[in-house]
Amino acid sequence: MTNPKIVEEKLKIEKAYLDQLFESAQEAIVLCENDGRIIRANKDFYRLFGYSPDEVIGKNIDELIAPKENLKSASAITQNAATGKKSAIETKRKKKDGTIIDVSVLASPIIIGEEQIALYGIYRDISARKQDQEDMEKEALKLSSMISGMEEGIVFADNKDIVIEINDYLLKLTHTKRKDIIGKSIWELHDLKTSAKIRKHIDTFRINPSSKPVAIQRPLGDLKTIFRLQPIYKEKHYEGLIFNLIDVTELVNAKEEAQEANRAKSQFLANMSHEIRTPMNGIIGMTELALDTQLSSEQREYLKAVKESALTLMKLINEILDFSKIEAKKIELESIKYKLHESVKQMVFSHSEIANQKGLELFLDIPINIPNYVIGDPGKLRQIISNLLGNAIKFTDKGKVVVSVREEERTKNSLKLHFSVTDTGIGISPDKQLVIFDEFSQADSTMARKYGGTGLGLAISSRLVELMGGEIWVDSQPGKGSSFHFTMPLMLQKTKKPSPISFEFDNIYNLPVLIVDDNATNRLLLEKMLNNWKMKPQTVGSGKSALSILEKSAKTISPFRVVIIDAHMPELDGFSLAEQINKHPLLKNIKTIMLTSAGMPGDAARCRELGFSAYLTKPVNQSDLLNALMLTLSPSEESEKQTQLITKHSLNESHFHFRILLVEDNKINQKLTVRLLEKKGYRVTVANNGQEALSIWEKDPIDLILMDVQMPIMDGLEATALIRVKEEKTGRHVPIVAITAHAMKKDKEKCFDAGMDYYISKPINPKKLFDTIENIKSEKFKSREQL
Ligand code: ADP
Repeated sequence: MTNPKIVEEKLKIEKAYLDQLFESAQEAIVLCENDGRIIRANKDFYRLFGYSPDEVIGKNIDELIAPKENLKSASAITQNAATGKKSAIETKRKKKDGTIIDVSVLASPIIIGEEQIALYGIYRDISARKQDQEDMEKEALKLSSMISGMEEGIVFADNKDIVIEINDYLLKLTHTKRKDIIGKSIWELHDLKTSAKIRKHIDTFRINPSSKPVAIQRPLGDLKTIFRLQPIYKEKHYEGLIFNLIDVTELVNAKEEAQEANRAKSQFLANMSHEIRTPMNGIIGMTELALDTQLSSEQREYLKAVKESALTLMKLINEILDFSKIEAKKIELESIKYKLHESVKQMVFSHSEIANQKGLELFLDIPINIPNYVIGDPGKLRQIISNLLGNAIKFTDKGKVVVSVREEERTKNSLKLHFSVTDTGIGISPDKQLVIFDEFSQADSTMARKYGGTGLGLAISSRLVELMGGEIWVDSQPGKGSSFHFTMPLMLQKTKKPSPISFEFDNIYNLPVLIVDDNATNRLLLEKMLNNWKMKPQTVGSGKSALSILEKSAKTISPFRVVIIDAHMPELDGFSLAEQINKHPLLKNIKTIMLTSAGMPGDAARCRELGFSAYLTKPVNQSDLLNALMLTLSPSEESEKQTQLITKHSLNESHFHFRILLVEDNKINQKLTVRLLEKKGYRVTVANNGQEALSIWEKDPIDLILMDVQMPIMDGLEATALIRVKEEKTGRHVPIVAITAHAMKKDKEKCFDAGMDYYISKPINPKKLFDTIENIKSEKFKSREQL
């Protein structure tokens, strides 16, 4: 039997426990009779609805807190609960002060045994949550009305790639209906190619929460559009993305139109350059020819002035053309194999005459361990050096100008060089140093009047340096001098052989040559010849003194590279001298040319043995000697150990039967070029247009064609193409040199495409012309020797 006392005690404890639970539940709880009359409520209930206990107990719960319009549904809940149905619902209730709040209600019966003795209700205030939800809905509404009014396409997709929103603009643009798009996967809306592109980006978005938006181009029917994909992240989780489609058709069309206009502009530029260069060619060339004739000193002065003015005008035209090409982004860099040392030397030495005239010393300091065989744009490099050097000489009245080259970095395939041009001239003030690299700027306009110039040289140089990936700057002190610096990255050649097209004829200009002959008249004669070719000859009367001069010069920056040796001399004869040169560690790279007055049997064999480059008999013919010198110094001879001995016989083979066909419609240019060539002893045939050229080439054996490009009846490109087609049957190949006033790179390519081998621009630089011809001759001669 249970002790009633103990039972009572236990009930007391349970009640106290339940009371405490009831009060501290943190939910508003109310206990009602089955008909809804309130028996009891907890503190949270009073707090939530603002009533005191005596205002509540005995009242019907629904009448007390349900707003009028909710009364029915509220009593339905109570009824349901009373019939034993538990229900939770979100609804509205009224506080004592009349404010309506959002609540969730859970109403439930209390059942003891079979009998339902009461009801309870739990109320939770959800106004804040409801408010948030409403705010969010409002925001979403705002957003969708905003995007629907936008003049660009917008699509939202969720993290499962399902479209959840699209704006009217895009619907209109794609002629689709909202219901056909919303809920679809984005992969159904794009073609395969675009899908692949988009997928790549979305995959990245998913993995990397710091992904940036991306833009891709996509044609949409006739439209040109840009698609911007913007990922959406919430606490670093990928939530989906916004597609933003912008119609750029008009923009792209405008850009294409602008490009077309630009093309037309540069075509105009090219034509202008052609039109100006052709008459300039006539002026400069004819003046040069006239200067070679008998003239009174007054006439000579006038003609010299004409030539100088023409050259200045030519420089100006070139600068303006260059600058416009840079501005129109038309300048293209070449990437060809060339020899750095020769290229720089040639450029520096070509300024020596004018430096000499001003009494300035000009030095080139290029250490021999700087690689020689490089790949880059030699023309632009020379242009930059020439600009800086030209300025240095121009703005220096006494002292010296030094060009130096230093290596800054070298990897297996590349090289970075630091060039500087330093003078002891007027210098540049610090504020002017800031602007001289801008176009049309000169440090001092009064100076500019004194020294002349366009103010474009440095602007061009700095753009070119930049274009080639280098930097340019200046150090200068007014009154003391200036130092212009620039850096230039270059690639290194893998094989040391230059390619035939990029071949630049080794310049014999200013080449130091030692002449060793015991006969004074012979020495004088040879010296004159070499001076005529603008070499730097030095003469010496005996083999012994020759050796000591060679030794001394080997330690300087421009040592002798060639020695012309007379075979028969007292004491040390030519053969013994050559032997000693060959054995000498400092001299063994020097090339030797043997001159003998009487060819003795076995001489040639001895020459070959002793490593002579050439063997010629006296009296030596001028062009033979020149050819021998050029061949001796030609790059292929330099890079490989020479095997062929150049002899009068082999030279004859190459020289006297060399016929040139000049194809040119302009009478003045015809006359000019023929005179130039004939003065050098070449045989020239003239054709007035491509058609004439073709028929002459077909019947006469021709060794070389100099071909103008623009001509009436048949132009040079067409004639060349026809010759190349006909040659296919014979397997022969006549070298064709394009001679044109078109100075754009594109024109050059057109010539090469048509089948031409070399390219010379007008006005013809005689040296360049002869170098090219000699180069072609020596190539031809070598291939014959090898047969
Ligand atoms: P310009 O055709 O006038 O020489 P540049 O662009 O080559 O045009 O040079 C711009 C100006 O910079 C020159 O006019 C001159 O004032 C100054 N300048 C350039 N090089 C030197 C130098 N070596 N010494 C002094 N001033 C120089």
